[in-house]
Amino acid sequence: MSEEEEADVLERYIAAEREPHRDPRVRITGLMVQYYHVCKRELWFMSRGLDIDRETTNIQRGTHVDETSYDDRRRSYQINGRIQLDLLDSGDVMEVKVSSTLEKPARMQLLYYLWYLDEVLDIEKDGVLAYPTERKREEVELDQEAREAVADTVRGIIDVVERDAPPALDKKPYCDACLYQDICWV
Ligand code: SF4
Repeated sequence: MSEEEEADVLERYIAAEREPHRDPRVRITGLMVQYYHVCKRELWFMSRGLDIDRETTNIQRGTHVDETSYDDRRRSYQINGRIQLDLLDSGDVMEVKVSSTLEKPARMQLLYYLWYLDEVLDIEKDGVLAYPTERKREEVELDQEAREAVADTVRGIIDVVERDAPPALDKKPYCDACLYQDICWV
């Protein structure tokens, strides 16, 4: 894809998100951003409506931590029906994770929220990434480098989701814990 075509993909996406009555071809959620940075094949399966078993222990634990930590200091908002984010009393956007093992996907998810607020709604925010079980917090800012990383991510997600077939299997250290394993490896 040429640089011009890449710029077009991004501009079309932002323009569609700015107009509530216009449907973007791909609706990007925070979870999709996470999946993109964990495994593009996993993102493709998810984009085809293959859902995961949410009764699984890890998922339950993740939900529990997310729902109960910082409860008294944050409020949840939903934007355009698919961006669900939490705002702290300070005004910062907060993302809570169980573990920092997959730190980059978590940071990119939060940066996507900051980028979306800024590009689509003209709202400037900073973020806080928190791992309460590890007593760890990180302040996250949408600087120029982060903006470019999010723009690349948005283009990349659209590219993966619009493919007719999933990206080739590329086994990873965490494949054994992946809930798509059974359909991925057959
Ligand atoms: S099993 Fe591995 S390669 Fe397949 S979707 Fe899951 S993480 Fe990706």
